Order: sequence, then C-alpha cells, then structure tokens
Amino acid sequence: MAFEFDADAMFKSCALYLSKGLLLVRVHGIWPDGRCTCGRKEHAVGRSGERNCGKHPVGDDWASRVATTEDDIVEWLEDGIPFNVGCLLGPRGGVIDSEDDDEAARRYRKSIGMDLLETPTWLSGKSTHQLTLWDDRLSGCKGTANPGGLEVRIGAGNTSIQSVLPPSWHRSGVQYQWKPGFSLNDIEIARTPRSLLVALSNGAGSESSRPDEKPASSMLFGEIPDGHRHRAILRWSWFKIVNQLNPLNKTNQDITMREILLLNEQNCKPKADENHVRKIVSDCYDHYRKKKESGWVPSQADAESDAAEKEIDRIESSPEGSSKPAPGSGLELYGLKKITVGKIEAYEPGEWRIEMIHSDPPEIILCVPAWEATPCRGRIHMSFDTFRSAPKTAAAVFNATRTYILDGDAGKWQRTWKGQDASKATDHQSIPGLMELLMQKKREEDDIAVGTSSLRYAQLAGYVLQVFKKATQPRDEEKPEPNESGRPCWVTPDELWFQWGRVWEDIGRSHDVQAGERNRVRAKLLEAMGQRDFSHKRHRFQSGRLEFVVFTRDWVSALESLSAGEELDWTVKGGVDGGSTKTKNHSPSTVHDGEVVVA
Ligand SMILES: [Zn+2]
Repeated sequence: MAFEFDADAMFKSCALYLSKGLLLVRVHGIWPDGRCTCGRKEHAVGRSGERNCGKHPVGDDWASRVATTEDDIVEWLEDGIPFNVGCLLGPRGGVIDSEDDDEAARRYRKSIGMDLLETPTWLSGKSTHQLTLWDDRLSGCKGTANPGGLEVRIGAGNTSIQSVLPPSWHRSGVQYQWKPGFSLNDIEIARTPRSLLVALSNGAGSESSRPDEKPASSMLFGEIPDGHRHRAILRWSWFKIVNQLNPLNKTNQDITMREILLLNEQNCKPKADENHVRKIVSDCYDHYRKKKESGWVPSQADAESDAAEKEIDRIESSPEGSSKPAPGSGLELYGLKKITVGKIEAYEPGEWRIEMIHSDPPEIILCVPAWEATPCRGRIHMSFDTFRSAPKTAAAVFNATRTYILDGDAGKWQRTWKGQDASKATDHQSIPGLMELLMQKKREEDDIAVGTSSLRYAQLAGYVLQVFKKATQPRDEEKPEPNESGRPCWVTPDELWFQWGRVWEDIGRSHDVQAGERNRVRAKLLEAMGQRDFSHKRHRFQSGRLEFVVFTRDWVSALESLSAGEELDWTVKGGVDGGSTKTKNHSPSTVHDGEVVVA
C-alpha cells in the first residue's frame, strides 16, 4: 500500500547510511491518506502544496540536529509518526547530489560522461540522482547549480541542503529506490568528476560548458598564458588527431608530437614542461585508440567542433585524472603528491595505489595512471620482496615501463620509498615512506583473490545461472507478471525479469562474494554484449511500481559463455584478466602500434 511506513526497513537503511558516514536528516513523511506529516493543509497529495509533501525536513534547526548514530534513529522512531530520510549535503555532509529530471539534463549528464560513473544512484519520481563526494574546489559555489539542466545540490555557501533517500515515499506513491547494483551497500561513493567540477566552478548555467572559449586553432595565432596552456594543448592535440586519416601511424605520431612541442615553445608563455606536453598528447592518442578498440569508426563528423569538444572534455575528465596538469616535475609528474615536513621534501601516494593478488606467492601491482601509455599500461607487477626494497621496486618500474627511472638519485628514492627517521631537519618527526603509505591506502576490494581472472568470473557467472535456473513462469499466462520479490521469472519466452540486487542477495546466502565482484560481473556482461547498461523495465504491482532488469536469451548466453570461462577480450578495471601470470607486463602483445614513447 502506498505510503505505508515500514519502521524496520527504514531503520536498517539508516543504519547502513550512517555506517557509510552520511549525516541523516529527519524529513516529513506522508500519512497513508496522502497528507504531509507537517500538518499544513495544502501539503497533501492533490492540493496546491503537493510538491512539498514528504520533502522538507522536520524543524527549522534541522541542520544542527542531524542523526549520526543508530540511537538517534531509534529516537526518531519513538513517536510513531512516519518519516522520510534525507542526507545532509555540502562540506559537512561530505557529499553532493546531481539530479536529472528531464531529457536535456540526461543528455548533459551523458555529454560529461557521468552516466557511466559508478557511484550510488537512486530513483525518485521521474528522475535519477547520483551521489558523489564533496570537493573543496566547490567551496566558492552556491547551494545549488544547474549546468546543462542538471540539478546539482551542492550545499556550499553556508546553505543547508539535504536530499531525500530510499526507502522514503515519494508523493507519487512510489518509494525512492536504489538503482539495482548501485546502492550505498553495493558501491563506494565516487569522487565528483572533474568535468562537473569545472562546470560548477565556472558557474556555467548554459548548455555548453564553455561558451566563451575560442576555437582550438587559436593556439596557432597568439600567446597562450599560464593557466590556459594545458587545455589549449589538449584541444589542439585532439583536433590534430581526429583530422588525420591514420593518426596512429608511427610516423604521423612523431610528426604531430614534434609540431605540438614546437607550438608550445613558440606560443605558450611561459612554455609548458616538455614531459607535460608529451603526456597530454599521449593521453589524446590513448583516448583515440581506446575509442577505436571499443568499435568506434572515425568519420568527418568527429572532426567537427561539437563532437570534438565533447571528447576533449572526456579526456580531461578521464576517471584516472590522467591528464591533469602535472605540477612541477620529476616524481610529481608521475602523480605523487609533494609535501614538506620541516625542511625536508617528501612524497605522498597522490594518484598511486596498489592492488594485492592473494596467490601463492602473493603479488603486488603498483598502479600509476600517469604510466598508462607504457607497455605495462600503468600496472607494475612485483613480489613482496621487490616491493619491500626501494632499488628493486625502481628496477621493476623501469623493466615494466621501459621508460621511467625512479632512482636517478638513489638516496632520494630510498628515502621516498622507505621513509626517514626523525631528525632536526624533519622537525623531529619521522616521515613514512611511500611503501607504507600505499599499503595504508590500499582498499580491500582492490584485492584480487587467487585465480580471479577468468576462473573466478566463471564461478560467479555460474552462481547467477544457478539462480536463473530456478526462474519461475508467470502464474497467469493471460496477464504475465514478474515476481514481486525480484526473483527471476520468464515473463515472456524471451524475457527474463529479475532484480540484480536480489539475485546477489540469494547468491550471498550460500557463497562468499567480495565487495565489488557483482559489479565486475555486470561490467563483463555489458562489455560482452556491447551495451552501456542493462535493459530495465518497470511493472506496477498493487503495492507500487518496481524496476526490473530484463535479460533476453542473448544475455543469458553471454552469461553462459562467461561461466564456461570462454576467453572474451575483457578489460575490467581492477581485474587482472587478459594476461595470464606468464605474460605479465612484458608481453609484447600489450604493446600497441600507436604507442607513444614518452621520454
Ligand atoms: Zn509538509
């Protein structure tokens, strides 16, 4: 029944959100007859204030009375009045919410690549919300902003703003619900993508994120001042590349690289560091190659400015931040973060991280986004013994990248990797080494269980198939309906309806599934099918509408291939697939024709 308050489900959800660090807000609920619990007459379904119904927080001072513990939630439940739950946004809440409620906003979200972002995502009424992490670069913004029609609830500028979360009731009679596989329980809250940060901090309210920008070619005709160099070089590089018939040809690459380096010397004041320019150009080639590998066929339309600018934004906001302007040089250029302790310069991991493979013997993979254009694609495998030694790690990096020498100054690298004891120069503090910091930073879901590669996925896909084998047939053939429980049902002979989260819940009862694994299986299936998302359909039950994933026989076949361990060309982030332990980093098969050699 619509608007039925389920105290137990509400408590469980709140407890989960609190465990993820959200600050929760008690929001007015909706009585079963459609009235807002605030008691205002017009706040009721079908009346003038309907829009506010079940959407505004309880009490004027709500922002200073957020819930931070389960006890606070127990207190909320004591008076027996239904409520909805929201989370505080902004610097205090630590998150922001981007909501699309029309086609334009959805198009804009897509144009900045946010539709592919893996971050908690929920549905309310007609719109989709994505939760991402607060970023201090948003401090100068206001409470909300509308780039390209996307309603971004930022909560900056001393405003108090909250967003209503599942399982709250929406006035339309449906509950807010997590997109299957994208709940706070399934995935971590992602960082706010750079493309959105840029749009927000530019205060861009129009459809184009940079209406004032001159054509990319303006780099040829005038001085590019500091602060505009990075983007000018990036734009011109991409235009050069998409305007060539065969840009990945080695000679063409050398020529383009040379031209852009000369242009940098000629027109950038002051000129950008040569390595930095090479990095930008190679990011563009990398992007081009990845697009081609995913089946894109370049055409004249791609060279036109609209299409090109979109790709430029994508390169600039690529999830690894690989084309971020690298400040300074040396170790910072590789994505490490320079800090100063006393009189000593030291480094923190910055963009570096490690993954661990629990095999026998265990292995460590050092992941460095800045080295993605090298033969190892930014992933350096090493033994524990190597990882524990500064010179051995430097040797492994050189062997794998064939380019980067970390121990040119052996003493400095030793101190950077292993740390330094407290001394007068360090203000009597000891400085931890990168080795230790990387270990601390490592997230458990980055660990890869033994034989993760195709074997583990075969196993996981097998679990899903086991659940599918128990799929029911509709009870009423005249009026076929999916299962309200979310368990699989062949609603038509070619349509298997189920809820992804429900399937994994069932699997979790008899098998150990690591955090993130179900999303990797999802990503593999999507890749195998060449799709960006599962196909979803909704069904209205008496209790309200529910969303289902719908698989045709083709999807089930893809799942069967996966469970049979068939080799598809899978490249899932964080996986170690596509390279058996024998090939590792040094396999010539991972070197592409179009590789740019970064000096
Ligand atoms: Zn109200």
